[in-house]
Amino acid sequence: MAFPGIPTSLTLEIVTPDRALVTEQVDEVELPGSGGYFGVLPGHAPLLASLQVGELWYRKGQEKYYLAVAFGFVEVLPDKVTVLAQIAERAEDIDQRRAEKAKARAEERLTPPHKPDLDFERARVAMMKSLIRLQVASRARTRA
Ligand code: ATP
Repeated sequence: MAFPGIPTSLTLEIVTPDRALVTEQVDEVELPGSGGYFGVLPGHAPLLASLQVGELWYRKGQEKYYLAVAFGFVEVLPDKVTVLAQIAERAEDIDQRRAEKAKARAEERLTPPHKPDLDFERARVAMMKSLIRLQVASRARTRA
C-alpha cells in the first residue's frame, strides 16, 4: 500500500574518490556502519553514519547486489542513501587471487613472532579488507 508522502523507493549513490560507482533506484540497502550492519528501507529517518570495512548489499525487486566497501560516510534520507566510500568494489570486479594474496600477507604479519616494526592496525585492516573481498566475491559466484 502506498501512503502519501512516504517514498516507495530509494536513490542509492555510491561514490569513491575515483568515480561514481552506483546510481540506482533500489528497494532496500544494508551497510556496515560504525555501530554494526544496518538496513534502510524507503522512509527511513535521516541519519549520518560512518562506514566501516564490510559488505554492502542493495536489493532491486528480488535481486540482491553485493559490494565490498571500506571507510567513509553514509547519509540516509527518507528517499536517498548516499555512500561516500574510500573503497567500493562490485562483487564481479573483485580479483579473488589478489585478495587471497593480501590475506596470506596479513596472516603472516599477524602470526607471532611479530616483527618489531609491525603496524598492527594496518595489518588488521588489510586482513579485514581481504576477508570481506573474498566473502563478497563468493556472492558473485553463487548468483551466477
Ligand atoms: P592489495 O594489498 O592487494 O593492494 P589493498 O587492500 O592494499 O590490497 P587497497 O588499498 O584497499 O588495496 O585498494 C587499492 C585499490 O585497488 C582500490 O582501488 C581497490 O578498489 C583496488 N583493489 C584492491 N584489492 C582488490 C581486489 N582484490 N580486487 C579488485 N580491486 C582491488
